[in-house]
Amino acid sequence: MSHRKRSLVLVTVDCLRADHCGLYGYARPTTPFLDSLAAESFVVPQAIVAGAPTYYSFPSILASRMPLALGRDVVGLAPGESTLATVLREIGYATGAFSAANPYISPRFGYEQGFEVFRDFLDHDFIGIEAQSTQDTFNAGPESGDSVHGDLKPKLNSKLNQSLKNFAGALGLSSLYNELYFQYCIKTAPVADSVDALRRYPAADVLVDQAQSWLASVGERPFFLWLHLMDPHSPYYPPAAAFRELTGRDIEPARAHYLNQSWNRSDLTASGLRGKRDEVVELYDAGILFADRQIARLVNNLKQTNRWDDCVLVLTGDHGEEFLEHGGRYHAPVQLGEEIVRVPLLIRVPEARGKKAVPTSPMSHLHLAPTLFEIMGVQTPPAFQGRSLWSNLQQNIAWSDPAIIECAYGCTNPFRVENRSASRLLGIRDARFKLVMQIEPGTTERVYDLEADPTEMHPNADEIRSDTRKRLLQTAREYMQKMVLPRDHGMRVRARLRDLRSELAGVRSSA
Ligand SMILES: [Zn+2]
Repeated sequence: MSHRKRSLVLVTVDCLRADHCGLYGYARPTTPFLDSLAAESFVVPQAIVAGAPTYYSFPSILASRMPLALGRDVVGLAPGESTLATVLREIGYATGAFSAANPYISPRFGYEQGFEVFRDFLDHDFIGIEAQSTQDTFNAGPESGDSVHGDLKPKLNSKLNQSLKNFAGALGLSSLYNELYFQYCIKTAPVADSVDALRRYPAADVLVDQAQSWLASVGERPFFLWLHLMDPHSPYYPPAAAFRELTGRDIEPARAHYLNQSWNRSDLTASGLRGKRDEVVELYDAGILFADRQIARLVNNLKQTNRWDDCVLVLTGDHGEEFLEHGGRYHAPVQLGEEIVRVPLLIRVPEARGKKAVPTSPMSHLHLAPTLFEIMGVQTPPAFQGRSLWSNLQQNIAWSDPAIIECAYGCTNPFRVENRSASRLLGIRDARFKLVMQIEPGTTERVYDLEADPTEMHPNADEIRSDTRKRLLQTAREYMQKMVLPRDHGMRVRARLRDLRSELAGVRSSA
């Protein structure tokens, strides 16, 4: 039997955690469209990222490769690496990517490879991106305390402020000073009259518009469309209509601004932030709803243009987002709680109608691309490290491979190559237990029982048997041994040359 080649739509949503989606049981109606699509799709109950954040996650999604497999100094896709896009383009697919200005999935890190059209809404001024990513670092990481008040900061340089700050410090009043200074900044900062003016990334409607005009241009060719949405990413400024739909209230730009600035403060501990949490989550959730509405619009367009019946659609997140579950915010690579590593994964396959029962085995993103290739009848390149789980999904047969997660601990700005060499943070996640360890002398591993302790508050509890710990440690050891050996040195060198070129370009344009 021969049928038309299937097209593939991959929608990745930045910071989308599984438990904030309706189809994963969230009480708030954040994903009405995806919930309805779930009724004719495979919804993987425990989909786990291979790394976090963005730059440690995407090599597995697009290239079925563990994030640090080419060495910690290689970030992104290596030049010449096989990906979903390069393979499909090779066999005649139209390939297009539309990404909402996330600097870590730009050509700087090899993500344009295989795409005939690659639109990332960045200006490709690498100095500019660097400046923005420093701001992101502050957003993302606990170690970047030097820009406490974000864009409000320059005022801190005034002499009077500095001496007040020193004075307050000497009296042990710095937290009072910080509070007064924050209030002063908020009161004196001009606030936009709509949240649209405060938003940092293009919203999903802009991307869907562009994707649809690209689709109209590809004619009868099968296509691969990758859409990366940033709507739930911080700073949290959802479109007003989505906020109203979700909460029944109107969003006040000044309030949203105040909440984002407060949430961003590095001088406050979790207890000082807790009072803002629910309102911040509301903003994040409204971003999810907006993305969901736009995905619905895209699918509607595919139906109207008679493409939907040939379309495999995948929806997932590149990592989750923390709201103080373990004392932190955002998604810096410093801990591997479920709020960070567990994402939604929905796979819609045209003729496999009806809701599917899917095993609760953890499914790593590493296996996504090979699984998609089998669904589409496309040969998987030998360099892919994952394996197809298509028959397991179809027949509801559990698998035993644990999901492995890795990142360089605390690397919040991979534009700076020296930041990448931090020690490896490794997670081994099986259906019930999770081992988390930093590969560094003097640190001890933590084992969590996700059944008895779903919020991961009690590592190494007494009930965790020593054979469980031993088994997980053995998996970690085998993984480390396996990953050190087969590095592709050619790719590694090419990736490092790319870093050097962009560093030199930066020096030249700032001179
Ligand atoms: Zn991300």
